[in-house]
Amino acid sequence: MPKGGEIMVAKKGEEYVCEVCGLAVNIVDECGCEECAIVCCEVPMKKKE
Ligand SMILES: [Zn+2]
Ligand SMILES: [Zn+2]
Repeated sequence: MPKGGEIMVAKKGEEYVCEVCGLAVNIVDECGCEECAIVCCEVPMKKKE
């Protein structure tokens, strides 16, 4: 169940970027998490649209 706000789930093929340092990652293999946070610079990375 969504708990409000944006729940981040990493899906295969998605790209995430760190808004602090600019690091970009691609999801090669997705996980089975209901809620997944990829953290860089102590900030959750944002999905690149
Ligand atoms: Zn970073
Ligand atoms: Zn995960």
